[in-house]
Amino acid sequence: MTGSGALPTAHDLFIAGRWTTGSGGTFDVDDPATGTVIASVANGDAADAGRAVDAAAAAAADWARTPPRRRSEMLHTAFGLMRRDRTTLADLIVAENGKSRADADAEVTYAAEYLRWFAEEAVRNDGTYNQSPDGKSRTIVQRRPVGTAALVIPWNFPAAMATRKLGPAIAAGCTVVLKPAAETPLTALALARILSEAGVPAGVVNVVPTTDPGAVVAAWMADTRVRKISFTGSTGVGRLLLRQAADRVVNSSMELGGNAPFIVTRDADLGAAVEGAMVAKFRNSGQACTAANRFYIHQDVATEFTEVLSRRVRALRVGPATEHGNTIGPLISAAAVSSITDLVDTAVRGGARVAARGACPPPGGGHFFPPTVLTDVASDAEIVRTEIFGPVAPILTWDDECDLLNQVNDSEAGLAAYVYAGDLQHALRLGESIQSGMIGINRGLVSDPAAPFGGMKQSGLGREGGREGIHDYTEIQYLGIDWA
Ligand code: NAD
Repeated sequence: MTGSGALPTAHDLFIAGRWTTGSGGTFDVDDPATGTVIASVANGDAADAGRAVDAAAAAAADWARTPPRRRSEMLHTAFGLMRRDRTTLADLIVAENGKSRADADAEVTYAAEYLRWFAEEAVRNDGTYNQSPDGKSRTIVQRRPVGTAALVIPWNFPAAMATRKLGPAIAAGCTVVLKPAAETPLTALALARILSEAGVPAGVVNVVPTTDPGAVVAAWMADTRVRKISFTGSTGVGRLLLRQAADRVVNSSMELGGNAPFIVTRDADLGAAVEGAMVAKFRNSGQACTAANRFYIHQDVATEFTEVLSRRVRALRVGPATEHGNTIGPLISAAAVSSITDLVDTAVRGGARVAARGACPPPGGGHFFPPTVLTDVASDAEIVRTEIFGPVAPILTWDDECDLLNQVNDSEAGLAAYVYAGDLQHALRLGESIQSGMIGINRGLVSDPAAPFGGMKQSGLGREGGREGIHDYTEIQYLGIDWA
């Protein structure tokens, strides 16, 4: 562990409770708001991946036997330490991800809540005891830790995507090998330090940053000691990992891409709908899997909704989080700016109109994109069918509810959706007709540690958070007892 520069944190691999250099040298981490290098981090390779599994496998049996209350107490302590270190953690998130200060502070709170939630769930691992129908046997059904789990997370929520997996894994009694995204390894390493300080034993949590994710994760997928893969990221990489999982029938949880519709009915509270749209679309500069990707506004209220939303968007302050008052940070990379520029340009060539465009800092080292509202967007436009992952709100109008639901459900993705309606029963009926795992009703935020996060269709498998989250890290075992 090192403490260089303005950001005192770990820059090495964390394996078997020790900070260690990687076999692949080091790699640089950039600040997306300036393009400057903020840290040099140990670069793990397949050999390091193997060492991490050695440590996790060696710790697995003791950890599975550790009383649930003990595991729970460690998670409670880690929750407290995250609160103690909240400013440093938010600094790290701002530095490596670029998100606004408010978004970074909110992420630290949200991420810490997963540790608290799973501290509470650790001691509620229920089973059953039953008499067989013929009375000749008894069955005990219990949930056992699935074993060593490989956790692979993206850059957009470097703290929350880590704790949403670490919390339930630790609570269930699993040991883990975690690979953060190369863009944002520092937060994951800081969390490893916190968990270690909270008393989580050496080898239970191991972290391997790398610029060669294919090699590191493939090594884990091929290792018979790894019993579980939990992945959050793009649907393409999720499919690849599912193919690798098939070879050994590895237990798989997948949190993949989204394409969330945001529906506003004629009788909705438009002020609340715009407020919700600002959160659902512009939180994290639109870089959220749950981000509203396509707005379906009833034609009778579309003009008013667009005007109010446009006013709000023009008032957004875009720039580095380190400058006071900025509410929208940069995108993660120059490639992200260029792909969103292409999506908007293609939509405009196809007849869409730019109704609002926020101010953007002058071109420099940062990867900024102006928040944008588009109207007159064709229902089959590429921007409606692609996960934008940026601060662009394409608005479509609707009149017929059947057509609306056909358009909404005509997507491979089924992660999140939002419905704003005056009549709650109508909102619920719409919600039940939408093929998505999470529906925000008159609410622009669906992320909640106490609720099951996850998608239908190609948005994923399994759930994180809620009562269900710990189940992804357990396997059901039954013991039959002869009662002759
Ligand atoms: P990504 O799939 O490129 O990367 C995610 C992780 O996978 C990173 O750690 C990356 O290093 C790793 N990875 C990349 N190639 C790999 C390979 N060949 N083998 C193994 N691992 C590999 O995704 P991203 O661009 O970092 O993140 C954006 C995507 O993540 C979006 O599609 C978004 O919707 C999705 N996401 C989903 C959720 C969810 O909960 N459903 C949450 C956040 C992000």
